[in-house]
Amino acid sequence: MAGAVAAVTEHAPAAPGALAAYADLVAGCTRCPLHATRTQVVFGSGSPNADLMFVGEAPGFHEDKQGVPFVGAAGQLLGKLLAGIGLSRDDVFVANVLKCRPPGNRDPQPDEIEACESHLFRQIELIEPRVIATLGNFATKLLSGKPLGITRVHGQEQEVTLGGSRVTLYPLFHPAAALYTPRMLDVLEADFRRLPELLAREPVAPAPRPPLYAAPDPAAAPAEPEPVQLGLF
Ligand code: SF4
Repeated sequence: MAGAVAAVTEHAPAAPGALAAYADLVAGCTRCPLHATRTQVVFGSGSPNADLMFVGEAPGFHEDKQGVPFVGAAGQLLGKLLAGIGLSRDDVFVANVLKCRPPGNRDPQPDEIEACESHLFRQIELIEPRVIATLGNFATKLLSGKPLGITRVHGQEQEVTLGGSRVTLYPLFHPAAALYTPRMLDVLEADFRRLPELLAREPVAPAPRPPLYAAPDPAAAPAEPEPVQLGLF
């Protein structure tokens, strides 16, 4: 690991063992029809105390067989990109929007995302990452809560509240898409190189809550103009 990034890639666990206990629970999930066709649940892998988390789309053929996300060619590219900024898979946590493979690697369906999203939010709550890099459209739209596609928003960080904490959300092209499009790969590499800078930023303080009630200050209030009864004219 490179020193500058290593200093901020892990923090104290929220509750030691809590993530592993949650993984055991999710392993038996039957909330959506994908449970019937999966080999196993692909919960996620990496450090339970990671400051940097990646969220992809759904397990593919190899992930379903091995129970680990991003193990195919896209996973190799992710590992290479991480090595380029002095990190390894053990320093970060990698998960997907869906924890079970959609048959034939088809797109996740809205009802499947709805059924599975609480697993992802609970993971975020337990890991408490400072930066979440969303890989591709599905993770970006779900975690930003906005319909804007990855082509519009890649490389543009935004501060959001997820799992009860302030998080820097950082959308990136999905490595599987970049594998076959050299121009997209260039963009992904350039966006990836900004991750150390985002990790090194001071944690964002929670937004102050507005007071439930603030008495009006008569001195500060501008004088109200006399209402005009338009009906008189
Ligand atoms: Fe449960 Fe998610 Fe798997 Fe559906 S995809 S069965 S909600 S773990």
